[in-house]
Amino acid sequence: GLAPESAAEARAWLQERGGIAGHFINGKWGPLRDDFASSNPATGEKLAGVTKGTAEEVASAVKAARKAQPAWGRDAHKRARVLYAIARLMQKHSRLLATMESLDNGKPIRESRDIDIPLAIRHFYYHAGLAQLLPVEMPGHSALGVCGQIIPWNFPLLMLAWKIAPALAAGNTVVLKPAEYTSLSAMVFAEICQEAGVPAGVVNIVTGDGETGAALVDAEVDKIAFTGSTSVGRRIREQTAGSGKSLTLELGGKSPYIVFDDADIDSAIEGLVDAIWFNQGQVCCAGSRLLVQENIADDFHRRLKARMAKLRVGDPLDKSIDVGAIVDPVQHDTITRLVDASDGEIHKAPVAMPETGCFYPPTLITGLHTASPLMQEEIFGPVLVSTTFRTPAEAVEVANNTRYGLAATLWTENVNLALDIAPKLVAGVVWVNATNLFDAAAPFGGVRESGFGREGGWEGLSAYLKSDTKPIACKPLSP
Ligand code: NAD
Repeated sequence: GLAPESAAEARAWLQERGGIAGHFINGKWGPLRDDFASSNPATGEKLAGVTKGTAEEVASAVKAARKAQPAWGRDAHKRARVLYAIARLMQKHSRLLATMESLDNGKPIRESRDIDIPLAIRHFYYHAGLAQLLPVEMPGHSALGVCGQIIPWNFPLLMLAWKIAPALAAGNTVVLKPAEYTSLSAMVFAEICQEAGVPAGVVNIVTGDGETGAALVDAEVDKIAFTGSTSVGRRIREQTAGSGKSLTLELGGKSPYIVFDDADIDSAIEGLVDAIWFNQGQVCCAGSRLLVQENIADDFHRRLKARMAKLRVGDPLDKSIDVGAIVDPVQHDTITRLVDASDGEIHKAPVAMPETGCFYPPTLITGLHTASPLMQEEIFGPVLVSTTFRTPAEAVEVANNTRYGLAATLWTENVNLALDIAPKLVAGVVWVNATNLFDAAAPFGGVRESGFGREGGWEGLSAYLKSDTKPIACKPLSP
């Protein structure tokens, strides 16, 4: 398994800081209170206390951000330098960041080490490059001002990077609220900001829950950037309506994963393992709805079940496991309740399961009606629902029969078919013979109830600039 010394190192790091994740405001820590616990979902062990931010504390963070913004917004070269420094220090502390993320969230260490943390670092390098290019490529641009940013628990550090890097590159200052049960990597990040020479007030972190988030939405900020559930997104949209605040929402999904009968089946199955069991399926763009062509469905399901039986579920800090812990008991109960209420045919992978902790086996459900709740609602767990189609036209119809539109995947060896189908799928991104491809230079975001606005690339940067500045779409530059 992963060196237990890494976990000991992370625990010691927390203890040295009083065992509390609290606010980082105006370059300083505090107030720090143990209002609720952040626990390791694989064991139930309390890792740290978390401070629940009050409206006054949110206001003081916004005030600090407001004061710091004009100087930060003026000097693009300095912004680039600081963003590069953050990226390099994240690299230096990547082991601590990866361990903290897996302890706090339950994700396999292989994923935090090889995916979450490197992608987060890449985001800062990329935006350091954009900051440098900005005065040349978009002269006369101006930042929005102070941005309030609210993120979910599924990719704590990566979502932080997606929010903070473009906001800072564009010249804004930020107040970010991590999700209530995954604030620990944000603490490490705040210390990295100190070490990188981020001026006081440019990055402020306020910990807390939904009430703290609601206070941030109401605060004197110029923009709210939110990633999370569709229901909270809707509430924030109502709360900000008519306020003049800019808003971007990255919400949920029920993304289709379409397999045509001529597909390379082995690759399609490996892709599917990644699409639905990466991060225990707690991924907004998870390929959670399998659509397989009817004439190959039985064979495909048989081979998929054989592959499921080989997945290893267990201790997130063990380098050899594929599926870690569900983030917390509440999410675990939600998944259990949804699956138990299903009238489909439920297949749970016959794999060894840890005796305690928030674990749920990889699950496949077939025989559901397309209108059934499990086919329509986001489960946000390691549960794949499957249905069949006969013709390409029917595949498109079933795929688009959703209120969401975040991602879609299709597998076929027929290029003409792929080129015909891809543009007909209503989704922010369509992957062909691949899945879960992310890059800082490629804008990501949804349509319909999956939200609006893009993160990444020049489009993502434009969302942090005043709208009188012309966005430059499709620049061939990729720093
Ligand atoms: P959530 O909406 O419950 O919480 C997200 C964040 O909002 C948390 O920080 C939470 O404290 C805060 N919050 C809760 N109530 C609030 C309120 N009334 N006002 C302001 N802030 C509030 O979502 P979650 O359960 O943490 O995350 C899972 C959801 O996030 C899933 O639906 C998933 O699809 C979505 N998600 C989307 C993307 C994307 O890019 N589209 C990425 C990751 C996750």
